[in-house]
Amino acid sequence: TASGIQESLEALNIQTNNKGASTGSQWLTGSGESIESYSPVDGSLIANVEASSPEAYESVVKQAAKAFEQWRITPAPKRGEIVRQIGDKLRLHKADLGKLVSFEMGKSYQEGLGEVQEMIDICDFAVGLSRQLHGFTMHSERPSHRMYEQYHPLGIVGIISAFNFPVAVWSWNTMLAWVCGDVCIWKPSEKTPLCGIACQNIVAEVFKENDVPEGVSCLLNGDAKIGELISNDSRIPLVSATGSTRMGKKVSAAVGARLGKALLELGGNNAMIITENADLKIAITGALFGAVGTCGQRCTSTRRLIIHESIYDQVQEKLVNAYSQLKIGNPLDEKNHVGPLIDTDAVKMYTEAIQQIKDQGGNILVEGGTLTGEEYSSGCYVKPVVAEVENDMTIVQQETFAPILYLIKYKTFDEALAMQNGVAQGLSSAVMTNNMREAELFLSHAGSDCGIANVNIGTSGAEIGGAFGGEKETGGGRESGSDAWKVYMRRQTNTINYGSELPLAQGIKFDL
Ligand code: NAD
Repeated sequence: TASGIQESLEALNIQTNNKGASTGSQWLTGSGESIESYSPVDGSLIANVEASSPEAYESVVKQAAKAFEQWRITPAPKRGEIVRQIGDKLRLHKADLGKLVSFEMGKSYQEGLGEVQEMIDICDFAVGLSRQLHGFTMHSERPSHRMYEQYHPLGIVGIISAFNFPVAVWSWNTMLAWVCGDVCIWKPSEKTPLCGIACQNIVAEVFKENDVPEGVSCLLNGDAKIGELISNDSRIPLVSATGSTRMGKKVSAAVGARLGKALLELGGNNAMIITENADLKIAITGALFGAVGTCGQRCTSTRRLIIHESIYDQVQEKLVNAYSQLKIGNPLDEKNHVGPLIDTDAVKMYTEAIQQIKDQGGNILVEGGTLTGEEYSSGCYVKPVVAEVENDMTIVQQETFAPILYLIKYKTFDEALAMQNGVAQGLSSAVMTNNMREAELFLSHAGSDCGIANVNIGTSGAEIGGAFGGEKETGGGRESGSDAWKVYMRRQTNTINYGSELPLAQGIKFDL
């Protein structure tokens, strides 16, 4: 079942026992504690990674600070050229890295390849950006003065990432940060440490070929303790953290206490409104893909369907029918639609959530359960669930990171909008309608309160060209496209006097 995984591990230079901390080409001795990476696909131990020690952390931060002095004076388009080469290297390793993502995290091979493609795309985007780090110029109110603003590199960017996008989130941050002149320290999820090592190896090759100093790309495998060191470290001006809202609140408090910058990409509770004017073919396909894709483990997964009462029964019937045709199994086998959850803890959360739905008065339409048998021996395969609920039920208000889809009925569009916005999270949202008034109202000031609002496209997935992120408990951060690069730089306003007078502010004069 792990077809070709050994070859891919070899191609990515992953050993049975790996060091976990690195400044580029060099690997540091860690704590001696081992992080074991088990595949949710078949439950096998893939490899071990040594957790970083506080000493290794210290060496890495010092090396990164040293590298920054050199990297920041390398011209931005030259930094872009190096990122271009990383994109090429990723193209070469696409199949191997995609397979590792699929095997270590459990998403389908197709989705694994898609994630690597996103990395390649952000490289291309960053290459162009490296010649477009523009500031404005302004007209000064004083004679013979010139005023403009410019963007300078920040320094060390700390990146804390989640298991569900084990490689793409890192690249969204690093490729922009690198062309901006920053150096990066990455702490991957302790559930996907091998993906971190693979990326580090790929970058190290390119950096070596270009004599990039050690410290521009750093890796620190470990658990929350390493994340805490990063959050509390005032040598790290920006911390970009992707994960649960619970984690984000802690990181935000620690970074805030030292007045650092935090870029937060946290949990979602994404809804799709299906109005009586929807094209149901698009709506059902979008809902199904959004709810069961990546086994419901995307931050943008569709969790709630808010459906007009006049088409409710019809949508329900179509969905139940579609769910009955889902194939669950090995994600490396293209015939399967749904792979495993990340681990058995996630299965426990899923099972508890189903119990809570029942306890709180929900009505299960498509039954869940954990699958058993040889193909499912990892214990991580579950059946996607559909349940009828009320929007204000406690369980519906939370993000359950599993394939559980809630159906909610509405009468008026205003009511639907209020329900869509009536949760603590604000990441992604969608309306399915061919009615222009509904679509425009949804996108208006009085419409969706999310960072992402779509019409006739589901909630999940996003193009790298747009800024990605969400409001409220999703954390407010934006990364990837548009002008998201600005968070990786510090802005400076400059005024130059080329005259022979010094006009003082507020008309103040000295008789000298
Ligand atoms: P998680 O919060 O358990 O872990 C995320 C990362 O934070 C890990 O690297 C972990 O080691 C680290 N961490 C945990 N506690 C920490 C602390 N106190 N200080 C510093 N670091 C700490 O999340 P997960 O289970 O890996 O991922 C799932 C969550 O991530 C979901 O809530 C999902 O919505 C969210 N997510 C959001 C986005 C987004 O862009 N908005 C993208 C992907 C995932």
